[in-house]
Amino acid sequence: MNLEILPVTEPKPQITDESSLVFGKQFTDRMFVMEYDTGKGWHSARIQPYAPFSMDPAAMVLHYSQEIFEGLKAFRRPDGSVAMFRPADNVRRFNQSARRMCMPEVDEPFFLDSLLELIRLESDWVPRSEGTSLYIRPTMIATEPMLGVRPADQYLCYIILCPVGAYYKGGIAPVKIWISDHYVRAAEGGTGEAKTGGNYAASLYAAREAALKGYDQVLWLDAKEKRYVEEVGSMNMLFLYDGKIITSPLHGTVLDGITRRSTLTLLREMGYDIEERAMTVEEVMAGAQNGRLQEAFGTGTAVVISPVGSFCYKDRCVQLGDGQPGELTMKLYNTLTGIQYGRLPDPDGWIITL
Ligand SMILES: *Cc1c(COP(=O)(O)O)cnc(C)c1O
Repeated sequence: MNLEILPVTEPKPQITDESSLVFGKQFTDRMFVMEYDTGKGWHSARIQPYAPFSMDPAAMVLHYSQEIFEGLKAFRRPDGSVAMFRPADNVRRFNQSARRMCMPEVDEPFFLDSLLELIRLESDWVPRSEGTSLYIRPTMIATEPMLGVRPADQYLCYIILCPVGAYYKGGIAPVKIWISDHYVRAAEGGTGEAKTGGNYAASLYAAREAALKGYDQVLWLDAKEKRYVEEVGSMNMLFLYDGKIITSPLHGTVLDGITRRSTLTLLREMGYDIEERAMTVEEVMAGAQNGRLQEAFGTGTAVVISPVGSFCYKDRCVQLGDGQPGELTMKLYNTLTGIQYGRLPDPDGWIITL
């Protein structure tokens, strides 16, 4: 397929104050778009000026949520070049989500090339100050106008970009986590392993309840027994317990995070034993009290590594250690961001520079 590049006639003013960037609010001049029709396949791939879509009110995504997305980042390096972290993994996961939601797959090499071309054209938008990045949001939606529950025959796939500020302004801060004993995110056989909009819509109610009580995030338990810790909002959870790393296995309810995967590789290289097993909420609560649970942190593209300061479950709250980010947590944060921003070597070949 050919990629058409359309000119930008009215460029937006460049960002002058990078410290004022708000996550997900400001978008660049261009976006990638392509369309799909059953029988014809993907067509009309183009990089065009960023602009609103016009859509039929009956478009199936608006009624039945046939939608998937991805999230990844581009980083400015000290020499001025732009780097991407494992982008082919995101493209592969985009297609995994597409299959689960009965949506058409994209051609992975073409989609990755188009993404890289878009970043090249928009490279001036990759911010330069410490900790900033360009957040990349590939998305696919069902556009066929039709009120009926079945896979659509028309889709739109697009990529938009937003420059984002440092996630941690004023230093890396531990989060306060509420373990939900009532609401669930994903059940076995459901859509938990797909990055699809409905999962996040379904999580809002519990997240709002947690926020009203003063917590930063919800930690979800398994839907069947409400006994095993799974993941948090848009982060996988890892625990340093008795000197070993424990994290939930990937059996359909947990998203296969690329930061999780990368962190596990780093931990293996550091010599840690890793147990991918179901960990009970009691192990977490008791472990924080008796010291067997030494550190806990979330992993995800937006936060990279997010230390946990405390867990609250039912009427009980426990603090981890002295409530400050753990030593291993900080080491992983510094290693991953070091690789991404080019301060450290990239022994596993995760970086593509443009
Ligand atoms: C995106 C996401 C993650 C993190 O995945 P990364 O590839 O590391 O960004 C974890 N859990 C959920 C539910 C997510 O949507």
